[in-house]
Amino acid sequence: MGDFRDNFRKVVPYVPGEQPKKKVIKLNTNENPYPPSNKVNEIIKSFDNNKNKLYPDPDCTILRDSIAKRYGFDEKNVFVGVGSDDVLSVAFLSFFNSDKEVLFPDITYSFYSVWADLYNIKYRQVKVNDDFTINKEDYYSDNGGIVIANPNAPTAICEPLEFIEDILKNNTDSVVIVDEAYIDFGGVSAVELIRKYENLLVVQTFSKSRSLAGMRIGFAIGNEELIKEMNDVKFSINSYTLNQVSLVSGVACIEDEEYFNETVEKIVNTRERTKEELKNLGFTFTDSKTNFIFATHKDLFAKFIFEELKKKDIFVRYFSLPRIDNYLRITIGTDEEMDELIASLKEIIK
Ligand SMILES: *Cc1c(COP(=O)(O)O)cnc(C)c1O
Repeated sequence: MGDFRDNFRKVVPYVPGEQPKKKVIKLNTNENPYPPSNKVNEIIKSFDNNKNKLYPDPDCTILRDSIAKRYGFDEKNVFVGVGSDDVLSVAFLSFFNSDKEVLFPDITYSFYSVWADLYNIKYRQVKVNDDFTINKEDYYSDNGGIVIANPNAPTAICEPLEFIEDILKNNTDSVVIVDEAYIDFGGVSAVELIRKYENLLVVQTFSKSRSLAGMRIGFAIGNEELIKEMNDVKFSINSYTLNQVSLVSGVACIEDEEYFNETVEKIVNTRERTKEELKNLGFTFTDSKTNFIFATHKDLFAKFIFEELKKKDIFVRYFSLPRIDNYLRITIGTDEEMDELIASLKEIIK
């Protein structure tokens, strides 16, 4: 006799950062500290709720059009999903069906190995250097696909465009996914390379630079063939992904380029100032081009600082994982929030 439990899939899920119920200084999940564009507020206020009785447009046309225009592509080159997690998951399912290993760094977004395990995709986690930089040559071997987060998370390191192009030049036989969740905070996007490399898929999100983590909007830009493949997979799982409100909110958000630039600039300025303050307190960190800082302290254990900050209702992210278990990932908040963080760190360190 068997047991129905024997047939459970038994996955080891991704563990998201904590969303505390009480009000804290929340620097643990890389959300944007500033509110969404006012254009998003306006569109939500004027939204006719009667529309919700109908299914949304399964092709997400208005949002794909809007993203395509913003990045200089055709709507056939754009796929949208329920956050970039959804987009990446569909991409893994669509493109990684090889007997060869999919390659990604050992220190990177931990969701990649979760999807690979879930979908039975063979993969190898390629060791990054001790300074957390990636060796592009490690990705020149035969493979079933490549995933690079650029900037990488949680290391915050951003590689230049030539680095991505070198990987593409040496990989014409598999799909290369570049996850650009943090690209707006100081990196150069690989989207233009899509015109040259038909196996490149660039994935971005509205969750970080566009202050819409709660709305769940992500997108991919790539060759028309890649996007068609992803749509075939999406329509094999769930045709109606983005809801009516998300679709119109996403469009409104894209239309407010001025607010987007302003917000990103504020966060970058706060980041650079915070780097100085952390340095004075004895922290070292990678040269972040993201909305977070990946820092370690010369005397105190990261786990201790993490716990002490939590007692003071300041949440940062700590990963109990090999090689990075003495680091904190600190999201850039408002200037006031970072002032409180620094004041608390001073108390903890003295
Ligand atoms: C935040 C993040 C995502 C997912 O963001 P969504 O909210 O699902 O759009 C994907 N990749 C990386 C590297 C991230 O940090």
